[in-house]
Amino acid sequence: MNIKEYIREIKDFPKPGIAFKDITPLLGNPKALVKCVEDLASLVPKGVTIHKVIGIEARGFILGGMLAERFEAGFVPVRKKGKLPAAVHSRSYGLEYGADTLEIHTDAIAPGEHVLIHDDVLATGGTAKAVCELVAELGGVVVQCSFIMELAFLKGRQQLTVPIVSVLQY
Ligand code: AMP
Repeated sequence: MNIKEYIREIKDFPKPGIAFKDITPLLGNPKALVKCVEDLASLVPKGVTIHKVIGIEARGFILGGMLAERFEAGFVPVRKKGKLPAAVHSRSYGLEYGADTLEIHTDAIAPGEHVLIHDDVLATGGTAKAVCELVAELGGVVVQCSFIMELAFLKGRQQLTVPIVSVLQY
């Protein structure tokens, strides 16, 4: 099955000039959803233990949670500023469309834990870079950043020094 058929492009959302990659058709199709999670899981090097999967708010929560279950890992939400209730570390970052601040609970990852970071789209790489910095601040080790898709023309992977994988490339 070709899961690219389940990614819907919405032109000029949320701003003129942005071609938004909508994953809701993929999420809504049981076979496409399972195939995508299987493909992502197969990209993790065999024999590597994952202690925590980070999902980036909000679309990274869905498949991030499914990956955590697959790897029998804990799930850690990285959220937009002001959403997490306990003590946090924060990082501000640039987006393909705007700027934002992401936060992680200070006790979410123990020093030395192996972390898989998951999000739906790698665009300019600013988001993933900020999350890598938050993990480093907690002493975690990023094993991989995994994305449903990569907008390769934006060269986001050049921002990152950790292994990057994606199921679909544009
Ligand atoms: P970036 O920091 O530029 O790599 O942007 C990645 C974040 O913004 C991810 O959380 C994506 O969900 C979202 N994002 C950026 N560009 C798009 C796009 N064209 N379609 C859908 N989501 C996007």
